[in-house]
Amino acid sequence: MTAPAEAVLVRVDRARCIGSGMCALGAPGALALGPDGVAEPVSGYADGGAELTPELTDAVDYCPVEALTLLSARGGYRIAPAE
Ligand code: SF4
Repeated sequence: MTAPAEAVLVRVDRARCIGSGMCALGAPGALALGPDGVAEPVSGYADGGAELTPELTDAVDYCPVEALTLLSARGGYRIAPAE
């Protein structure tokens, strides 16, 4: 039996995002570019809590301006990036 995947939220620092689109390409189930060219969470990653995936973890790690933050949907604590 495998452990249930962790439920997470994604926060986008809109002042930092430069609209590179890398996160939307790498984790399209979790992030998309909005009409103003700034990334935004989709499908429950904004507030409902959705499943943590390796693609999402990579997107947070590889954002060129560190605009993405992963939070636990249950505890509210920060998962990534490391402080
Ligand atoms: S990878 Fe970072 S800078 Fe690029 S669109 Fe996503 S949040 Fe914005």
